Amino acid sequence: MTIWTAVNEELARWTHLGRRCPLWLRDDDAVAASAQLDRLLKRCAQADIPLGLAVIPADAEPSLAEVLAGHAFVTPLVHGWSHTDHAAPGRKKCEFGPERPPEVRQSEAERGLSTLRGLFGDQLLPLFVPPWNRMAPDMPARLSASGYRAVSAFGPSPAPCDGIAWINTHLDLIDWRGSRSAIPLDALLDLLCRELRDRREGRRNPAEPIGLLTHHRVHDAAIWDLLDRLLDRLADHPALEWPAIGKLGAGRLG
Ligand SMILES: [Zn+2]
Repeated sequence: MTIWTAVNEELARWTHLGRRCPLWLRDDDAVAASAQLDRLLKRCAQADIPLGLAVIPADAEPSLAEVLAGHAFVTPLVHGWSHTDHAAPGRKKCEFGPERPPEVRQSEAERGLSTLRGLFGDQLLPLFVPPWNRMAPDMPARLSASGYRAVSAFGPSPAPCDGIAWINTHLDLIDWRGSRSAIPLDALLDLLCRELRDRREGRRNPAEPIGLLTHHRVHDAAIWDLLDRLLDRLADHPALEWPAIGKLGAGRLG
């Protein structure tokens, strides 16, 4: 028995059924070229997997567009506007929560989309990643009216509504509430197993891609190592597939 045994056994069941589970990787808080970003891009290229890169529009620098221009496997996404916490005191951090009027939130979301379109052109997908993975319930309709096609937050993806597809992430590599370093590999693999099993056994939509979530700007050695170990095993496993980011969400974005 190794730490990977349960995952390997679960993936063998998918193979036996002739099925493949879609996976994707989202990395958040990108603003500029950096050694950390280079490392992430190199790792994804080496693993031959696409990357959804959530960019903070208000802070995005031209160097980021220059770095991504040569990398067709990277798809920039809109990470809120300025990653500012507007939540009421004592509430969970949130940039697009109900504390602010919907028109203000909508105009910021529109500004984020137009700013990043100016930087990345057609490389950008109209996919909104709310900072801290939360936003007010009226936001999907507002985002749809602003030209967005999809949202990515965290946890089980809701069904499409208001013209918005949900393409969430499910496995966060960072233990934010504890060490702020890597989550233990065995804990992460337990969660991965559960996501796979729930899809195989029909408790979840089997077409919902499992999303991994990273934050390259704060990675320490342990987090990079965890990402390496996951990609070593999962990037080319025959029971898994890594669709282009634009093909996620039943092709609504492509
Ligand atoms: Zn963020």
